[in-house]
Amino acid sequence: MESIESAVRLFKDQLEKLRVYNHAMGVMNYDMETVMPKGAAPLVGETLGALSEACYRLQTDEAFVAAMETILQNPDAVDPITRREAERMNEDREYLASIPLEEYVEYQVAQTAASSVWHEAKVNNDFASFLPHLEKLVEMTGRFARYYKPDQPVYDTLLGLYEKGLTTETLDAFFSQVRGALVPLLERVMTCGREPRTDFLYRFYPKAQQEKLTEYLMRIMCMDPDHTVCGEVEHPFTTEFTKADVRITTHYHEDAVHYSMYSVIHESGHATYELNIADEIARSPLGSGVSMSVHESQSRFFENIIGRSEPFITFLFPKLRELFPEQLKDVTAHEFYLAVNKAEPSLIRTEADELTYALHVMVRYELEKQLFNGTLAVKDLPAAWNALYKEYLGIDVPNDTQGVLQDSHWSSGLFGYFPSYAVGSAYGAQLIKLMERDLDVWGNVSEGKLQPLIDWLTERIYRYGCRLDPKDLMEQAFEGPFDPKYFTDYLEKKYTELYQL
Ligand SMILES: [Zn+2]
Repeated sequence: MESIESAVRLFKDQLEKLRVYNHAMGVMNYDMETVMPKGAAPLVGETLGALSEACYRLQTDEAFVAAMETILQNPDAVDPITRREAERMNEDREYLASIPLEEYVEYQVAQTAASSVWHEAKVNNDFASFLPHLEKLVEMTGRFARYYKPDQPVYDTLLGLYEKGLTTETLDAFFSQVRGALVPLLERVMTCGREPRTDFLYRFYPKAQQEKLTEYLMRIMCMDPDHTVCGEVEHPFTTEFTKADVRITTHYHEDAVHYSMYSVIHESGHATYELNIADEIARSPLGSGVSMSVHESQSRFFENIIGRSEPFITFLFPKLRELFPEQLKDVTAHEFYLAVNKAEPSLIRTEADELTYALHVMVRYELEKQLFNGTLAVKDLPAAWNALYKEYLGIDVPNDTQGVLQDSHWSSGLFGYFPSYAVGSAYGAQLIKLMERDLDVWGNVSEGKLQPLIDWLTERIYRYGCRLDPKDLMEQAFEGPFDPKYFTDYLEKKYTELYQL
């Protein structure tokens, strides 16, 4: 057996190579989504395919695997970070090793093509052109899940890839509790006879002024301009290449001020998590957010619980008036607060209010379950989508652009990801209760001081990166088990007050 010292050395060398490849792929992906001319897609797809192949080879390389096994067999002979790195890498390796290399490379190429076609299909309301690409991704994703865990339901395997330990059993219980509380609450809101005015949100808001708002919001979110930047895309996201380089994106609508505003706060929430990971693991595979749900808990915490609170709006409103004097000349801070919290059934998930948001996620959850347990064919997805929007939200979907084609996730092969948005929202509601116990949250927020909140979250969540499993991390942060009741109570209280129910 090789010595533990040489095993650790080889293991760390390979990890650094992997980091370099991942960095290059990340930059190319960011470039592809922001500024790449579309004609470059096939070539970029090939390059990404080659880099993925190199990563695959590194992660499944015999010497690397042997070094990792030596570390795993001698857990007490290495430091805790190295031990945890080996555990995490071994989980990834087991998934990768279950997929034949040619199929893995084929998948990377298929994913790049699907992503490119989806952009066009969405613009042209053309599901038919996207269909063969989506069928291929669904088929391959299901096949890979069966390679990895042959004895487990496919959809549970997919959920576990984004959130270790999350199952349909847990989610069925979660969504039924959420639906039981939110559907009657929405009904009360819709029949109470009160409707906030929102006309001013949809006036003309020039992009150049909205860009100034983006800069301001990033500063309020304590984002260091030396290490962060905001690009423009169709569907906003955040990407990080270590805490030294975290990039967010937004999409400007000149006929609505709040879309980009909340998108920037949301993505800055993701970025804040990445920027505050402990230095000692920043370049390690442990140096990123631990799971999608925990990540979404942070973005949605800042977007909704903080960003849509009255103290925050009261603080921000003078700046909004300064940037948009004409558009907001007949509006008060309180009216703005009511407008950005208006609840009503709508078509687009990313623009949904806090109250109906989880119902949008439930539509996607139900459809993904059916796609992967074989009860729904991909070609029938648009009709099934429209039927569920009618059932859960009571609305008719006029076209696929505003329906099944609206999200980029499925075109990127992200199946099993959506539930994390709803679970993440629920995590945030439990966190704010504890934060209020420890801090003068609303006093700080009303002065635009978010650093104390970020420090509190860094202490409990951010600094750990992937050092703990998501469930353990959150139970430690919550000082007990996760309880969705915090979420339903939070929404009940907020909307009862907003609509004077
Ligand atoms: Zn997000």
